[in-house]
Amino acid sequence: MTMRLRTLDGGQTAVTDERFDALRTAFHGPLITPDDPAYDETRALHNGMFDRHPGLIARCSGAADVIDAVNLARERDLLVAVRGGGHGIAGHSSCDDAMMIDLSAMRGVWVNPAERLVRVQGGATWGDVDREAQVFGLAVPGGVVSTTGVAGLTLGGGLGWLHRKYGLTCDNLVAAEIVTADGGLLRATETEHEDLFWALRGGGGNFGVVTAFEFQAHPVGPIVMYGAAMYAAADAEEILPAWRDWTGGLPDEVTSRAMFWSMPASPLLPPEVHNRDVFIVGAVYAGPPEDATTILRKVGRFGTPLADLSGPRPFRDVQRLLDWMFPKGELLSYWKSVTVRDLGDDVLRMVLRRGLDRPHPTTLVHVPQMGGAVRRLGPQDTAFGDRSAAYIVSIDGNWTDPADTQADMQWVRDAFDEVNALPSACGTYLNFSSEMDVDAAGRQTAFGENLDRLGRVKQAYDPENRFRLNNNIRPAGYRS
Ligand SMILES: Cc1cc2nc3c(=O)[nH]c(=O)nc-3n(C[C@H](O)[C@H](O)[C@H](O)COP(=O)(O)OP(=O)(O)OC[C@H]3O[C@@H](n4cnc5c(N)ncnc54)[C@H](O)[C@@H]3O)c2cc1C
Repeated sequence: MTMRLRTLDGGQTAVTDERFDALRTAFHGPLITPDDPAYDETRALHNGMFDRHPGLIARCSGAADVIDAVNLARERDLLVAVRGGGHGIAGHSSCDDAMMIDLSAMRGVWVNPAERLVRVQGGATWGDVDREAQVFGLAVPGGVVSTTGVAGLTLGGGLGWLHRKYGLTCDNLVAAEIVTADGGLLRATETEHEDLFWALRGGGGNFGVVTAFEFQAHPVGPIVMYGAAMYAAADAEEILPAWRDWTGGLPDEVTSRAMFWSMPASPLLPPEVHNRDVFIVGAVYAGPPEDATTILRKVGRFGTPLADLSGPRPFRDVQRLLDWMFPKGELLSYWKSVTVRDLGDDVLRMVLRRGLDRPHPTTLVHVPQMGGAVRRLGPQDTAFGDRSAAYIVSIDGNWTDPADTQADMQWVRDAFDEVNALPSACGTYLNFSSEMDVDAAGRQTAFGENLDRLGRVKQAYDPENRFRLNNNIRPAGYRS
């Protein structure tokens, strides 16, 4: 059988049996085609919006497989999608008829406790990292859902429960091994391929396939003080401004977030919140739990909560608490986010209005606090760019019935437009953005003053824009 795969120019090319057999002989991981019994399970992405059918899934087992896959793509001009953890909200990690370079079987994690370094393969999830690092009482600042991939999250910045103390995930990156468009395997650090290293910290999957990340880890846990109080959503009019004022005076050890959400009648939750619209105040203290008792007590005292789940908990449990609310493939998701310099009353009014008007129980209006260590770097220090935001307003549309898709996407867009029009809006956080509608203006907003430099790095490492299924940065001087 001759396989037909999509090319960069939108056409198709035939990969003959002979060429495919040569690849199969060299490859250590499986090469999965649409007739393979494992195809449907393997191609599935986290976001149920995307039911895509790649022409070939190259399920890599190591850097050598990635090199072979990239070489085939270059030789035949193939369109490639790169998958790490598969959580990408924009669905870029798969594409109909394209070749998917799939790293989701490369999940090794190695910890060097003496130097507090953690080496992570390019398809690992945060659950993989926490499992190994917590053996040594260490953590790398990651995301708040343990099934999310390290790769996409890190390359887009990365925020979670520790960013105000230890910075964005990308700020803790000390090295990346990456297969670039020419099939070379490079190591990028502060002193080797410095421009590439700079670009990888916020510039997304534009520059190649990262086969391994090396992070600086920090002592965290195994027990941390966790704050989580659920209030009736209707009480948020009073609690939201009080939460905003409280967060203004917090030490960097505390990372807090507020969320409008609805709780299902799950045995995992107290009955008081079953089937209720709630306003949640959450916080984690990155330090000795006994130091946090007083400061985090406030989480449950903004009013009378329906439930207060605060208390000391294993860090790994905190990292997994939200997993079950995001089951793989079941939610159709469309998210957009605005970074804001402050939470003025105008922003709060919008957050409150949209929080109370969510079209589905699974849709979230989510406000993580920024600042702290995130601001210790300047906008040009990494590709992430502007760090002046004090909060992010993320409008996370999640629903289950495809019939709701158009209306729900419109709801998210309208909410985004309202917040984005306010004077304190200062950008967007790409990891929380379904950038299906990204354009030149959107790229400028997302990457700001760093866009030109990113274009030059892209030109140096991927001049033909082979890695284009992402929040794409055009190579400098590129015409197409
Ligand atoms: C339920 C959920 C919770 C989330 N929570 C957080 C959070 O707490 N904090 C946060 O910052 N973000 C969070 N996100 C957003 C998340 O960071 C992004 O969606 C991210 O892109 C996911 O990375 P991934 O590797 O899982 O995704 P994938 O879909 O595998 O990849 C996304 C993109 O990253 C690139 N990429 C992936 N792997 C590689 C690689 N090895 N080399 C080069 N490029 C690669 C590709 O361009 C790909 O299209 C969350 C998303 C979801 C769905």
